[in-house]
Amino acid sequence: MAVVELSKVGKQYPGSDDLAVKDFNLVTEDGEFVVLVGPSGCGKTTTMRMIAGLEEHTQGAIKIGGRDVTGVAPKDRDIAMVFQSYALYPHMTVRDNMAFSLKLKKYDKADIKKRVDEAAEVLGITALLERKPRALSGGQRQRVALGRAIVRQPQVFLMDEPLSNLDAKLRVDMRAEIVKLHRKLGVTTFYVTHDQTEAMTMGQRIAVMKDGIVQQIDSPNNLYQRPSNVFVAGFIGTPSMNFLDADIDGERATGTSFELALDEAHRQAAGDRSRIRIGIRPEHLHLASADDSRCRLSGAVEVVEPLGSLTMIQVKVGETTLTAQIEPHQQVAMGDDVTLTCAPDKLYLFDPESEAALI
Ligand code: ATP
Repeated sequence: MAVVELSKVGKQYPGSDDLAVKDFNLVTEDGEFVVLVGPSGCGKTTTMRMIAGLEEHTQGAIKIGGRDVTGVAPKDRDIAMVFQSYALYPHMTVRDNMAFSLKLKKYDKADIKKRVDEAAEVLGITALLERKPRALSGGQRQRVALGRAIVRQPQVFLMDEPLSNLDAKLRVDMRAEIVKLHRKLGVTTFYVTHDQTEAMTMGQRIAVMKDGIVQQIDSPNNLYQRPSNVFVAGFIGTPSMNFLDADIDGERATGTSFELALDEAHRQAAGDRSRIRIGIRPEHLHLASADDSRCRLSGAVEVVEPLGSLTMIQVKVGETTLTAQIEPHQQVAMGDDVTLTCAPDKLYLFDPESEAALI
């Protein structure tokens, strides 16, 4: 286990004018599970490769276990990596695949056997040890890939989209397995994904990245409750948060076909702005039942998606299409005119220019 420290870490690839990663600052807890999440090209893999030593950082400093690893070769950083393509050696048994790196490092036979047996036990693959990879399912192969990393008993695990080759159901199972495994082993782990649900369910802390810049590093709960800007607010949560640009009119935010009461805290947050960007999560929008609702958004239903335990509807309010989550027993059809409402304290407020959160 180790603390990993990134101080103002940046990367400029040769021949590129832009930084692929800029000013990345993070000090992990010992044994923490940190997820890097963000859209394609935001710099997640580059960050991982810099921690691994596969890519040199061109700015800042990286410390693993208190040691500055600048110039330290990947094999000497005491890390183990699990990647998307877990490329097992097809001609070797599971046991030999798992033992391979230990044999290269000339561990003694008894130690190798002990480590492989223990890792196989933890991963529930003891019965598969003498099989060849072609006789394994996708999930089993992924476990062997994890096993190869575990036997090395590294200070840090680096996992870059390790589940992306698995089907949806297996991904969900495996992500729970990886979380359990982490709890058991307590090894500091960096995990890359572009899937916000995976990030939210796995990370103790999550770094949300965009264009090489960390937008926010926080617990899943804080990212959801207190996103730092419009990007994080829109990226975290499914379906995504709805956004509306509004005029401030005294105690209300208004726009075409909507009128939202602002409570004291929101009025203060808005300050003397005349325009504001409002964010409302789909789960906080409801069909209005009373005429006297303080927040009202009216429009025609464009899409109805019954999902069993809940129903998603899309409603065109002015120029904006809003997504709302309603109860399955509420009967709504395409083309219906509806009014949606939201509790005033559920509104998110952003500056329309800087897109920074105001509350
Ligand atoms: P994805 O989710 O698609 O894997 P990512 O978030 O991991 O994306 P990176 O692969 O780190 O993103 O890429 C970050 C930026 O750096 C991108 O603009 C990419 O084009 C650029 N980049 C990555 N590798 C190189 C390289 N070897 N040389 C030049 N530019 C690169």
